[in-house]
Formats: sequence, structure tokens, C-alpha cells
Amino acid sequence: MTEARWWTVRPAQNLKPATYRCPFCHRHLPALSEHVLIMPEGNPKGRRHAHTACMLAERKAGRLPARDEWLKTQPRTPGRLRRLLGRGAKAR
Ligand SMILES: [Zn+2]
Repeated sequence: MTEARWWTVRPAQNLKPATYRCPFCHRHLPALSEHVLIMPEGNPKGRRHAHTACMLAERKAGRLPARDEWLKTQPRTPGRLRRLLGRGAKAR
């Protein structure tokens, strides 16, 4: 499983008759069934198809934090946004 600080999860339902393997339970996942697509730090290259139930279990166990949840665990950088805004507002 890819190491990532946070994950994007979105519903997926493929019309392509493919079979994926769920990264959590390692069982087959028919693409036609309703499932989810998980992406490490929003990177589509690392996306994996997973069972909805498995994803929910991982989320519950805290192993699949969303970006918002991850950001909350990070040290606050109060000046950063202000600097960015300040730079944008500066007259040239
Ligand atoms: Zn699974």
C-alpha cells in the first residue's frame, strides 16, 4: 500500500467489465459494483479501487485520513496565508 499523508476518496462505478483487487482485504472487486476510488494525496497515478465497506473500516481505524483531517494534525502556519494574500495585493 502506498504511503501517503492523506487520501482522497470518491465513489466509483465503472462500466468497464474489469476486476480490481481491493488494497485492504485483497479480495476481488468487480468494477460494475458500487465501490470507491482512493487516491494518495490526490494523485491519480496512485489511485486504487476499494470496497466501500473496507474504506469505511480503514477510515474508522484512522488509517485513511482525508486532507482536512491531516491538516489538523499539522503545526499551524498562521503567517503563510497572510503572506500569500499580501503578495497578491501588493501594487506593482
Ligand atoms: Zn475490500
